[in-house]
Amino acid sequence: MNFLEERIVKDGVVKEGNVLKVDSFLNHQMDIKLLDQMGAEFKRRFADKPINKILTIEASGIGIACIAAQHFDVPVVFAKKSQSINLDGEMYVAEVESFTHKCINHVIVAQKFLGPEDHVLIIDDFLANGCALQGLIQIVQSAGATVEGIGIAIEKGFQSGGRIIRNLGYQLESLAIVDGMDAETGRIDFRPQGEDVGGSEAENSGEKNECK
Ligand code: 5GP
Repeated sequence: MNFLEERIVKDGVVKEGNVLKVDSFLNHQMDIKLLDQMGAEFKRRFADKPINKILTIEASGIGIACIAAQHFDVPVVFAKKSQSINLDGEMYVAEVESFTHKCINHVIVAQKFLGPEDHVLIIDDFLANGCALQGLIQIVQSAGATVEGIGIAIEKGFQSGGRIIRNLGYQLESLAIVDGMDAETGRIDFRPQGEDVGGSEAENSGEKNECK
């Protein structure tokens, strides 16, 4: 097990509805030393990419992205979520269905912070069905910028997002991939690292894009 998997086993809580709670160290209270280790690992995995900007989405992605940005020495842009939007031509906007809140958010980035000259690493805390990532990718494309890679803390490999994003051809690096979990026993199964490209059997058999 790597450092993040060990921490998930120690402090993560499996909830009903395929939700893994990691709020004691990742997305409510944040363990900054752990985030720093994650940032170093993202830098190692994307060492050969000409990344000049990190893009994430509020709120949980911001802390992870900011600590990672210190390793890349680049600025962070975070997409804002809004229920009601004022389209004024100076924003990139994408629609994203929230896995945790079951609603549609508009995610918004000001055009002045993303353009064709940008080589972007997208970072987020979780990957489930991939809706958040697809919205962020759409925003990068609208800007004429390049997605150099995608870094995720925890991918739920039994949901379809990872496979969909990899099939689109992106370098997707998830520091921990959970292939199964059980709310009753608290059991969490991780995909062995280095075998993270093919996808689990369950995932391969039932792939569909769950995003609106
Ligand atoms: P997706 O868009 O890939 O379906 O879901 C990704 C987003 O939903 C992440 O940004 C994260 O905030 C939230 N999310 C998805 N699954 C989980 C989970 O199991 N636990 C927590 N804490 N957040 C999740």
